[in-house]
Amino acid sequence: MARYTGPSCRLCRRENTELFLKGDRCYSDKCAIKRRNYPPGQHGQGRTKVSAYGTQLREKQKVRRIYGILEKQFRGYFHLADRMKGVTGENLLTLLERRLDNVAYRLGFAASRSESRQLVRHGHFTINGRKVNIPSIQLKAGDVVELREKSRKITAVNDALEAVVRRGIPQWLELDRDTFRGTLKGVPVREDITTPIQEQLIVELYSK
Ligand code: SF4
Repeated sequence: MARYTGPSCRLCRRENTELFLKGDRCYSDKCAIKRRNYPPGQHGQGRTKVSAYGTQLREKQKVRRIYGILEKQFRGYFHLADRMKGVTGENLLTLLERRLDNVAYRLGFAASRSESRQLVRHGHFTINGRKVNIPSIQLKAGDVVELREKSRKITAVNDALEAVVRRGIPQWLELDRDTFRGTLKGVPVREDITTPIQEQLIVELYSK
């Protein structure tokens, strides 16, 4: 699956909010949005008015960029969420949260979702004892994500596990630091997702 490989900070500046795409740098004074808090490009400081459509579009782009998903796959998630029981917007966020790359990031094995995605692609994790390398795998309640034995000495992973204290581990996940093992205690519900997202705007956009 393709992925965005351009500058990350540009995306934050475009969405006018911190998307935390670069790990430690996002918490430092080097964060680009703290230094240049306006959209990138020649007209970045000139745009002011945003239409209703523009607001919906920006919200959708923001969520896509937070989770590192390209348009086609994101739209696929929306259609899946729409077919599920319950509220479409909430279903969408739940689907995104249950991706393996997101869960590994939330558990603290990586400093960012892109780093987590790379660890998954390189086969550093098992799910319920089976080696996996697909970042989009959907996890379910009770699944156990474990860092493989040979990967436990990776400096970046250990640094990330030290730093996870700063952002905290969501209550629907449980990490056993000693065994490098994380468990999904349950499926996340809307209240568990604290990232500021107005999912209703995305539903309105795709329902046009
Ligand atoms: Fe976004 Fe992080 Fe770059 Fe700041 S440092 S602009 S939060 S990616």
